[in-house]
Amino acid sequence: MFRFTVRGTVWVVLYLLFILAPLFAMLLGTMPPARSFWTEFSVALGYAGLAMMCLQFGLVARFRHVTAPWGEDVIYHFHRKISLVAVALVVAHPIILFVTRPELLELLNFVQAPWRARFAAISTYSLIALVVMALWRTKIRLPYDIWHITHIVLAVVAVVAGVAHMVGWSFYLDDPFKRGLWIALVVFWVGLLVYVRIIKPLFLLRRPYRVAEVRAEHGETTTLVMRPDGHAGFRFTPGQFGWLTLFGSPFQITSHPFSFSSSAEAVDGRVEMSIRNLGDFTQHVRKVQPGQRVYLDGPYGAFTIGNPADMHVLIAGGIGITPMMSMIRTLADRGDKRPVVLFYGGKDWDSHAFREELEALKSRLDLKVVHVLAKAPPGWTGEQGFITAELFKRHLPPPFAEHEYFICGPDVMMDAIEAVLASLGVPMHKYHSERYSFV
Ligand SMILES: Cc1cc2nc3c(=O)[nH]c(=O)nc-3n(C[C@H](O)[C@H](O)[C@H](O)COP(=O)(O)OP(=O)(O)OC[C@H]3O[C@@H](n4cnc5c(N)ncnc54)[C@H](O)[C@@H]3O)c2cc1C
Repeated sequence: MFRFTVRGTVWVVLYLLFILAPLFAMLLGTMPPARSFWTEFSVALGYAGLAMMCLQFGLVARFRHVTAPWGEDVIYHFHRKISLVAVALVVAHPIILFVTRPELLELLNFVQAPWRARFAAISTYSLIALVVMALWRTKIRLPYDIWHITHIVLAVVAVVAGVAHMVGWSFYLDDPFKRGLWIALVVFWVGLLVYVRIIKPLFLLRRPYRVAEVRAEHGETTTLVMRPDGHAGFRFTPGQFGWLTLFGSPFQITSHPFSFSSSAEAVDGRVEMSIRNLGDFTQHVRKVQPGQRVYLDGPYGAFTIGNPADMHVLIAGGIGITPMMSMIRTLADRGDKRPVVLFYGGKDWDSHAFREELEALKSRLDLKVVHVLAKAPPGWTGEQGFITAELFKRHLPPPFAEHEYFICGPDVMMDAIEAVLASLGVPMHKYHSERYSFV
């Protein structure tokens, strides 16, 4: 915990440094003649906005050491939210200039404007398009894969055109050192794309996996059992996830994230993912044949057991059961004696995957399973409705603040449960969550 907090603080300081250092570097050496306050202020906003946009490439480059203190879902959430700040800064730059110096409005004429102004327009419009598409992707029913490719292209265009605008204007970047610094900065961050899209896939290509078994589970779910093919595989901690490329090579743009559902104690590098049929990609998983070659990039995520706890309380909604299965199977394999309580919410009994295995696991560890059904079948005597504070009080021994809680499920359910835990006086560091909605 302490190690993660220190690491987190170091990364926050580094983040601020990456944004502010290129800005302050402008103040070094010979300075061009001073302009009005508003002009300089708007330029500073533009520089800071562009530096933040550059850093966005680093946030999603899947560097395990960067994301470990927070977890991937938090990093993606930050990537989304901070992009709004970056775009606001970039857009504020021309707005302030147009308001304070209306004669510059003629630069909006794309045909007659000089290239340095055209680059500014290209960068700003790309950024706006990028944010609009990211915010409203599901509303405009844009397929994920198309959105993903467009997102990458627009991001590169925005950043490259942004720096071309700065170099073209050459007010601060007249100095070759400063110009070199900014160009190097953009080349570095955009170059991360080369790492993510070419170097990393090359590495994955040399470490393929083979599907050893395909298992149908309840609730339109398919478990893929995968074994490393010609290498030792990787170790993961229960609750973590990997990016799966099921069809095609690791060079393809889109891979899909899935939690590992198997025990982390498997010695032969075997991993399992249990995938619910929910859309364009997942509907094809059940057609996979044993022997198929697949690629796994992992492990990722900070949603893991390992903290000292008197009792693990696992709260799963729907397919959010998969990381919990990994935790329970691992604890059973380790012969862990501490009590585990699983609250498992789902729409109906048919959708409750792994229910027979959960029953069987009770003989291997101190496990209590509370199934909570939204739609209960006739004669159901168990819990029904939502997971509430009363439900916790019925099944958990006090003091509630002593247990360690793990939550994974639909966003609405997770928000509700986090509020319930807060109302029961559970401190935030005692609950951990994994959101399946990165984008
Ligand atoms: C950390 C994590 C762990 C997950 N673990 C599991 C699991 O164990 N079992 C399981 O069934 N599901 C899991 N999911 C959800 C799973 O990744 C999505 O359901 C799946 O990618 C949807 O793909 P689709 O094309 O079938 O659905 P679509 O209908 O095309 O997409 C549905 C939604 O899923 C998201 N999505 C789609 N493709 C991707 C992608 N390549 N990367 C990120 N998000 C995407 C988008 O928000 C999209 O709107 C996990 C998600 C995350 C983030």
